[in-house]
Formats: sequence, structure tokens, C-alpha cells
Amino acid sequence: MYEFPLTIQHIFWRVEKLYPESEIVSRSEKIERMSYKEFALRVRKLSSFLKSLKLEKGDKVASIEWNTRRHLELYFATTNMGYILHTINVRFHPNEIEYVINHAGDKFVFTSPEFEISKLKTSLSGIFYLDENFDKAIDMQKPIDSFPQLDEKDEAVICYTSGTTGKPKGIMYTHRSIYIHSLTLLAKDAVGISRNDTVLVVVPMFHINGWDLPFSALMTGAKLVLPGPRPTSKDLAELIEKEKVTIAAAAPTIWIDFLNFIEKENYNISSLKTVVTGGAEPPRIIAEKFNKMGIRLYHAWGMTETEAITTVNQDQEKISSQGIPLPGIEMRLVSLDNEKELPWDGESIGELWVSGAWVAKEYYKEAEKSKETFRVIDNRIWLRTGDIVTIDKYGYIKIVDRAKDLIKSGGEWISSIDLENAIMSYYKVFEAAVVAVKDEKWGERPVALVVPKKEYEGKITESEIKEYLLSLNRFPKWWIPDKVLFINELPKTSTGKLDKKVIRELVRNM
Ligand code: ADP
Repeated sequence: MYEFPLTIQHIFWRVEKLYPESEIVSRSEKIERMSYKEFALRVRKLSSFLKSLKLEKGDKVASIEWNTRRHLELYFATTNMGYILHTINVRFHPNEIEYVINHAGDKFVFTSPEFEISKLKTSLSGIFYLDENFDKAIDMQKPIDSFPQLDEKDEAVICYTSGTTGKPKGIMYTHRSIYIHSLTLLAKDAVGISRNDTVLVVVPMFHINGWDLPFSALMTGAKLVLPGPRPTSKDLAELIEKEKVTIAAAAPTIWIDFLNFIEKENYNISSLKTVVTGGAEPPRIIAEKFNKMGIRLYHAWGMTETEAITTVNQDQEKISSQGIPLPGIEMRLVSLDNEKELPWDGESIGELWVSGAWVAKEYYKEAEKSKETFRVIDNRIWLRTGDIVTIDKYGYIKIVDRAKDLIKSGGEWISSIDLENAIMSYYKVFEAAVVAVKDEKWGERPVALVVPKKEYEGKITESEIKEYLLSLNRFPKWWIPDKVLFINELPKTSTGKLDKKVIRELVRNM
């Protein structure tokens, strides 16, 4: 067969030729609407503009922007022209922004005006602010007639990990990996997006391409809803009600807030059928609450190194499992002691290694660091995920912990995630983190840091939490945290996850 190149250009071909009337809705100061046809024209004009900057194939163009149609225009204009889009995490510290721009060697940056980056010491030749003036300037461009011919192996997007362990590391996505991943997400056992869906992408477009969901949605002509800068639960509820959203994707913390909000307010969100979550394990209560409203929760696992959604679990009965790999991905369970493969028996604990069509083979310009993480076995490259898991006989993964967050007490492992989820199932608790503290006798012991719900501040005690954990009959006594401390807010990383490094520091000083 002809090796037809699987590129973003082909996704764009569908956008322009097949679904001119499909819609893109983007929230910023106001709600903007445009048809795919109008969007495609904007992309062609922006491509002309990029060309006028005298960029060459493979040059990098950075974006620092929320989930907006302007960002989406950059997604297509840069990659269709054969340039590489470097999406920068808006929550990075200025030092980190400076570091990743220089490490990637970006030529230009397109940023929301709220980010003041002109003072950074970078290799940039120019900064463009994404505002109304910019829109007008692009509108005056002549749309480009044709795009350069690309190969599916060409590089398309670079994204950096959030650097909780050292400096951020770059992962380069190719046209092929983005195409195959986006296509796979359309499958019913994945996310299941069709032409008739309205997809709300809350997961950030500045981190792992919004899990490639914008590409997926546009590939199939679905209506795409982009919630813009810092959407609140109210903003999301309004968008879901007004735009009749059918599928929405966000991290678990967003859904926890959202559910608390809509329980008190009156919104009609009956159009919503599927909620996708991942990035951290969703507490069971999220599934229970959504299920009561007739909404199914899909639980996905992935990481920057695996281009977002890599395993999916749709089984509402065992929702805390991260699910099974999507077609295109293989996995192995590897012993922590000797790197031998372990059985999929639901009990053996080991590190998850994955290999597949959207799994990286190296960190960008980091040969040494890549050697630790990427391993060659029988001519195949495998990624060591650093996630400690069990796998059952049907291939369902259960994350026990991240390797660096496991607690080793008296030579036995304690899962911080299990304890956190159990504490969060207590009705007075909003959020919880469990970390290890050094202990002379046991090596390490667990300590919990708990954020009470507003209405229970000052009305919750340490012994209450410990008794609750024991009453669940799920944990041996030695798993119960030595101390339970209370706090107003938990430190988070730039991708909204518990920042265990900072939390460990905090606990040490409390
Ligand atoms: P970072 O948090 O460093 O930015 P990623 O965004 O790439 O990195 O996060 C990847 C990690 O997040 C995974 O290795 C895993 O530990 C955690 N993670 C992702 N999805 C899930 C999930 N569904 N359940 C539990 N942990 C998850």
C-alpha cells in the first residue's frame, strides 16, 4: 500500500473540506464563535504571517497561552508549515520559561499579554502578543495557497515535563504520533468522540496538547468548546449548559470543585454524557456523583513522555484502576529488585514500562538523562514510567504510587495514594496528602496533611481521621499515619498535582 503520510495537515484537510459548518466556541473576555471554515481561513492567514518571519522547516515557535481559538490557530499554522510548536506551561516560573525557551532554541514566542516575558534573557528574535491588534494584523494577511510537503516522521510539537524532579525535560511529538493518538481517542473504548459530540477541553492546551483532544475533535467534525483563561466551576457549568457539551475532560481536582459547585447551584447539565479525567487518580466519589446524574466517568492514565491518554478505564465498578492500554501501546510489569518481568496477578508490585506509537524514545537534547529512562529490549525502546503498579489478569493497571512517593516502613511499602483517597472519602475532608517522614525505628512513617471542607474548619480532629481510617477495615494498623496535620491549602505543581517535594518540606517544619 501507499504509505500515506499521517500528518496534522491531513487533519486540517478534513477541517477545511468536510466540516465547514462545524463550530469552535472559545471563551475569553466574551464568548467567540467561529465555523471550521472561518477557522481554516484564519490558519491559512496565520501561516502566511509565519512564513513572512523567514522561518525554516524544523524551527521552533513557542506559545504561552490558555485554551483559546488563538492557541488552536497556532497549533495548526505552525505544524502545517513544518515548524515545531513549543507549548509552554503558563504556570512555569519565569526562570523555567527562560530555561525551556533557551533549551529548545525557540525563534519566536506568541503569548497572552498577561505574561510579561520581555525581560527574560532568551534567544528569541521576537515576541508577539495574542490580542485584538494581533487578530486584526493576521486578518489582513493573504491566506497561504499551499503548505510544504511533510513526512509523518517530521517533528510537530515539543512539550516539557513540569520538572518536579530537576530541570524540565523536553519531549518531541511527531506528526505521526499526534495523528495516531488523536485517531485512537475517537474509538468507543477510548474517549469515543463522534461528529455529533460537543467536546469541552478543560485540560490545558499548554501541556501535552490538551491530551490531543482538540486534534481528535477537529478530525471528526465535533463542536469544540475552549474555556479560556482560568475557568471557574461557574464558567464550566455555563459552558456545559449553553453549548450542550456531551464530553468534557479535566483533572480530578477540577471535577471535585465542579461537583461541589453544581450541588448548590441550579444548572441544567443533562447534555453531558461522558467525563474524562486523569493526571492523578480520581477519588471514587467523583464517579459516584457523576453516575447518579447518568454521566459516565472515564479514567485515563498518561504522562508527558506518552503524549497524554495511554490507558483508559471505563468500568464504573472499579474506577480507581487506570485501565488497559489503548491499541498501539504495549506494557510490561518490571520487578523493582532485578528488572525481571512480573506476573499480571493483581498482586505483584513493580514498575510500569510502556512502549508504543505515542511513547517517546528520548528526552530532547538530554542523552545522559535519556539513558536512565529509556531502555532497549529486543530492538524496542521502552519507557520506564516511574509509576509503581499492579496489573490484573485482564491487563487492568492499578497505580500504587509514584516510585519516589512510596513510603517504606519497617521494610514494607505503604501507598500514599491509597491513604489519601481513603482520607478524602471522609465527609469533612476537601483534600489530603500523605508523605513519608524519616523515622529512626521504621525508616519512614506516613504523615497526613489534610484540608478540611470550609464548613468543617476547626471542627475536625486528628483522632477522628485515624479512627475513620481504621473503621474502613482496609488498612493494617501500621499503615495509619503517625500524625494528621491540618492546613488551608495544599501546594500544587504547575500541572495542578500535589507537590510532594514541597509538602515533605512543609511537614518537616510543622
Ligand atoms: P508531571 O506531573 O511531572 O508534569 P505528567 O503530567 O507527565 O508529569 O504526569 C505523569 C504522572 O502523573 C504519571 O507518571 C503518574 O504518576 C501520574 N498520573 C497520570 N495519570 C494518572 C492517573 N490516572 N492516576 C494516577 N496517577 C496518574
